[in-house]
Amino acid sequence: MTPFPLRFRTLRTRVTLWYGAIITLCLLAYSAAVGLTFESHIEAELDRRVHEDIELAGRALLVDEAGRPSWPGGILGKNVDEEEGGGHWIEIWNVAGERVLATGTIDPPPVAARPEASRGAQSMEVEGGYVRVMTESVNVKDSRFLVRAAVSEAPSRRQVRKLWLELAGITATVLVLGGLGGYALARRLLGPLGRMAEHARRITAEQLHERLLEERSGAELDQLREAFNDTLARLERSFGELRRFTADASHELRTPLTALRSVGEVGLRGARSNDDYREVIGTMLEEVDRLSRLADELLTLSRAEAGQANLRKEPVDLGAVGAEVVERLAVLAEERGQRLECRAEEPALVRGDRLALRQALMNLVDNAIKYAPDGSCVLVAAGTRAGRAFVEVRNEGPGIAAEHRERIFERFYRVDAGRSREMGGTGLGLSLVKWTAEAHGGSVELDTGEGGSTFRLVLPAG
Ligand code: ADP
Repeated sequence: MTPFPLRFRTLRTRVTLWYGAIITLCLLAYSAAVGLTFESHIEAELDRRVHEDIELAGRALLVDEAGRPSWPGGILGKNVDEEEGGGHWIEIWNVAGERVLATGTIDPPPVAARPEASRGAQSMEVEGGYVRVMTESVNVKDSRFLVRAAVSEAPSRRQVRKLWLELAGITATVLVLGGLGGYALARRLLGPLGRMAEHARRITAEQLHERLLEERSGAELDQLREAFNDTLARLERSFGELRRFTADASHELRTPLTALRSVGEVGLRGARSNDDYREVIGTMLEEVDRLSRLADELLTLSRAEAGQANLRKEPVDLGAVGAEVVERLAVLAEERGQRLECRAEEPALVRGDRLALRQALMNLVDNAIKYAPDGSCVLVAAGTRAGRAFVEVRNEGPGIAAEHRERIFERFYRVDAGRSREMGGTGLGLSLVKWTAEAHGGSVELDTGEGGSTFRLVLPAG
C-alpha cells in the first residue's frame, strides 16, 4: 500500500478532508433531492396549464350548420401568459386530418400529419426552444375534433436552471466555509497535542522530575497527559532506584577492597614470620570470599530482574528442601552453640525451581543463625495452609523494630550494617528471597516481636 503523502498525514488535514467529504456528500444528496422535486413539480404545473388550454379551447369552439368550426374572437386573450417569454399555441384538427383553426403567441409545434389524442404531455423542440404539447379529442354538436395545445417551457426551464445554480452556489459556499471551519476546529482541538509532544521531546533522563503542564484541552487529552505523567513518575522512581543501587553496590564493593588493600599493606610492612603471612593471607582470602559472594548475589539479582533467571517448574517438597538446608548449615549453628531443627510432618509440595528455592531458604536460615543469640534455637518448619504451601524459619532474639520491617527486603538495607558485615552479610539476601517468592507467585511473610522473628515463604501449592 502506498503511504499517505506527508502533507495528508497530519491528523488535522485528515480530519478536515473527512469532514469536507461528508459535508459534500450530504449537500449533494440534499441538492439532488430538492432540484429533482422542483423539476417534477414544474413539469406537473406545465401539464396542468396545457390541459387547461385544451379545455378552454374545447369549450369556446362553435360549429355552424355546415360543420365548420370557429372561435369567437380572442380566446387566447384571456389565458395567454406572456410573462418572461411564456406563450401558447392552440390548433383544431378535423377528422379528415386537416388543421382547421390555429392561434397562438409562439412558434407552433412541427405539423404532425394527423395528431393522435395523447395520454399525457410531451416535450418537443421548436424554433424558439422547447414546448410542452398535448392533444385531446373534443365533440361539438356531433362533430369530432382534435385539439392540440402547446405551452412554452422557456420560463420553467429558466426557473429550474436558476434553482440548480443557486444550489451549486450554496454547496460551494458551505463547503468552503465548512472546510475552513473544520480545519480551524481541528487545529484548535489538536493544538495541545502538538504542545504536549514538543514538551515531552524536551524531557531527558536528567529532567525526569518534569511533568506535562495542565491545560484545559478535553478529557481525552487530559487522560493522555495523566498517563504520560504517570509513566514519567514511574521512570523517575526506577531511575532513582537504579542510581541508589549503583551507588550502594560500589560502596559495598569498596569496603572489602579497602580491607584487602590495608591488610596487604600491613603485611608488607617489615619482615614477618611465616605464621604472620599465613594469617594475612587468610584474612585476605576471607575478604576475597566476601567479594565473590557479593558479585554472585549481584549477578543473580540483576539476572532475576532482567527476567533471565529461567526458573524451572518441577515438583518440589519444601519440607525436603528445609531438611537439606538444615543439614548443610548445621556446622554454622554448631559454631554458635545453637540448636537447628527441621520439622516437616506433612509434604509441602509446590511447582518451582528447586535450586532457587533452596538458595532462598539458605538465606533465611543463614540470617536466623546470624541474628539469633548464641545457644538459642532455630526452627525450620514446612506444611500447607489454606491451599498454600509454606516453609518458615523461626529464630529467637529481640525481633525487628517496626520501622525496619518493610525496608529489610530492600537491596543493601540492613538494620545494623556493621554487625551484618562482620557476620559476612552482603545486604542482598532478603531481596533475593523476596524476588524468588514473587517469581513463584508467592510472598514472604514476617512475624516478629519480643520473642524472635519468623520469616515465612508462602507459595501456591502444586
Ligand atoms: P544481610 O546480608 O545483612 O543479612 P539480608 O538482606 O539477608 O542482608 O537482611 C537484611 C537485614 O535484615 C539484616 O541486615 C538484618 O538487619 C535484618 N535481618 C534479616 N534476618 C533477620 C533475622 N532473622 N532476625 C533479625 N534481623 C534480621
